[in-house]
Amino acid sequence: MDPKKQFRPESLMMSYGYKPELSEGAVKSPIFLTSTFAFKSAEEGKAFFELAYGLREKEQDEELGLIYSRINNPDLEILENRLTLWDKCDDCAVFESGMSAITTTMLEFLNPGDLILYSAPVYGGTDHFINHFLEKIGVHAVSFKAGQTKDEIMKVLEKTGMADKLAMVYIETPANPTNSIIDIAACREVANAFTAEEKHVWIAVDNTYMGPIWSHPLEHGADIVLYSATKFIGGHSDVIAGAACGNFEVIKRIKTLRTFLGNMASPHTGWLLMRSLETLKVRMEQQCRNAQEVARFLNEHPKVEKVNYLGLIPEGTPEYEIYKRQYESPGAMLSFDIKGGEKEAFKFINGLKLIKLAVSLGSTESLVEHPATMTHAGVDPEHRREFGVTEKLVRISVGVEYHEDIIWDIKQALEAV
Ligand SMILES: *Cc1c(COP(=O)(O)O)cnc(C)c1O
Repeated sequence: MDPKKQFRPESLMMSYGYKPELSEGAVKSPIFLTSTFAFKSAEEGKAFFELAYGLREKEQDEELGLIYSRINNPDLEILENRLTLWDKCDDCAVFESGMSAITTTMLEFLNPGDLILYSAPVYGGTDHFINHFLEKIGVHAVSFKAGQTKDEIMKVLEKTGMADKLAMVYIETPANPTNSIIDIAACREVANAFTAEEKHVWIAVDNTYMGPIWSHPLEHGADIVLYSATKFIGGHSDVIAGAACGNFEVIKRIKTLRTFLGNMASPHTGWLLMRSLETLKVRMEQQCRNAQEVARFLNEHPKVEKVNYLGLIPEGTPEYEIYKRQYESPGAMLSFDIKGGEKEAFKFINGLKLIKLAVSLGSTESLVEHPATMTHAGVDPEHRREFGVTEKLVRISVGVEYHEDIIWDIKQALEAV
């Protein structure tokens, strides 16, 4: 029986896609530190290249053999196979960073003259690439925000005068750092309205905040799921990596461009991420349990004005309906408005003893940062405030520490404000 169908992903993270007999019986995959692979014969080399360069279709049961580590490498292939299990997809491509997964996908599916519709806010690096680099090569961009209905988004598109050029809808949900959420199925309806026989409108979702455990955008109508594997997937603040997941056709195109941009992950990164995947579910579940306790504590604290956490969305609201439909958990990321402004926020942050002050998220240790002056410092201040990224906003990525220790730290730092 196909183990992919028989067992749950967390049961397969230690073994799937790896054959010990090909590595001297080693239980764990070695790091294949080799740039190139020996072919058994010239005929085999020829056959591998025919597939790698798309010169002919694969025969039944034929697999692309190992050629050269820019094209493929065992550590990357096994990792990619394991990552397909969580999103239940055909294939995956791993990259040397989340940004390279995002930019390679955009470059593959967008052409000069096209229009990209994106949810705002998005990760700062993504925002920069869309509004500076894509603009330079003639790709136009327009944004919409959480809470806008399908009809309102259609109006945003019509106002551009180039809605017929729509080629991609790019979504980041929940949005960093405010946790606002976007309805992926509604975006699919918008994309379908502009899909023609010769033109598919692609939907790409940055699932870094909730994936790959608690959210599966492909089930809601997305074509491509993107990750900064630096965050929860890596989970130990010791590696930079990214991934793209989707069907065979989509990932074949992304991998082909990756071959020529040369931005694949290294064998060492592949091996390190396999190590991380073994504990992904237990880490994320513990982080979420802790985050729920922290959110509850902050929500009742007199020095806190407002807490942004999925678990606190009021029942009966349209947002609650999207939350329940798209997510299996309230997650481990939260942000809150402290009473006051930058001065009070800084005093709180500087007073923390256990929680580290650093950007990035999803790691085993709890991290705190001040979005307005750190991760989102490059965003136009007026634009930033419109999305709730003000001077009083503090973001916390909750780690796996004992929850009462995290809360003790937050409590003593708030008292000092
Ligand atoms: C960190 C992050 C990225 C960028 O990933 P890198 O691995 O730093 O290149 C993209 N999207 C989101 C939501 C992120 O948090």
